[in-house]
Amino acid sequence: MQKLVDLTGKRGLVVGVANEHSIAAGCARAFRAAGAEVALTYLNDIAKPYVQPVADEIGAPMLMPLDLREEGALEAVFEQVSAQWGKFDFLLHSVAFAPREDLHTSVVNCSSKGFSVAMDISCHSFLRMARLSRPLMTEGGALMTVSYYGADRVVEDYNLMGPVKAALEASVRYAAADLAAEDIRVFALSAGPIKTRAASGIAHFDELIDRVRERTPSHHLVSIEEVGRIAAFLASEAAGPMSGSVIYADNSFHVMA
Ligand code: NAD
Repeated sequence: MQKLVDLTGKRGLVVGVANEHSIAAGCARAFRAAGAEVALTYLNDIAKPYVQPVADEIGAPMLMPLDLREEGALEAVFEQVSAQWGKFDFLLHSVAFAPREDLHTSVVNCSSKGFSVAMDISCHSFLRMARLSRPLMTEGGALMTVSYYGADRVVEDYNLMGPVKAALEASVRYAAADLAAEDIRVFALSAGPIKTRAASGIAHFDELIDRVRERTPSHHLVSIEEVGRIAAFLASEAAGPMSGSVIYADNSFHVMA
């Protein structure tokens, strides 16, 4: 089959595969299908058996442990990438976390600690990754993260993740300006709702899916394969003039009143 985009010779790091249904797994497969080499991380030993099949499927040359709450863990990942590859071309950050009790209460009630943890793991970690990627993206590159419409508008039950995703999208714009001189492009992919492990932590997620399907003009939900193909395009030279944008992968749900 003819490749939609060509990432032959490119190398990328994908953070956020929990299992084969993760958005990051769809992206990793799409990067590989476009010809790229893709390194993966896994959260911990409990998660590893669910990530390993994805790593095997795409022939990942590196599968590294990464819990962003652990001091030095991210630096260790980048040291290994640097040692094995020397440089690389793209990064996907597909990570979110909020303490359950803070996610399941009104944003007005969430704790300071819960807000900080959600912000650190789901937003600031992207900037940490950008900082560590910079010296390794010697020929330019693409940094991508995954956001949600709850950044733009109030989505019932999305709660504190709304402000966190809004901060993530603003971080994308500022990082794009900071890194433009080095030809490093920065994007947020705003995906429509998809049944994943993280999504199962949001209250009444099945009802959200039904509401979104009904209000999406085509009545089609987006798949991880479709999000992956957009991510592969953004990582490619074809997306050269684009940076700093939020790209909606939601079958145009976001344009509806
Ligand atoms: P997922 O559960 O498959 O992926 C979430 C990932 O975050 C997991 O791999 C998990 O290990 C990782 N993570 C959480 N805490 C971590 C930590 N401390 N250190 C390292 N990794 C950690 O779910 P997903 O839906 O694929 O989520 C990926 C991204 O997509 C998230 O940013 C999520 O907010 C976003 N998103 C999801 C949807 C959806 O409906 N599923 C829609 C829009 C955006």
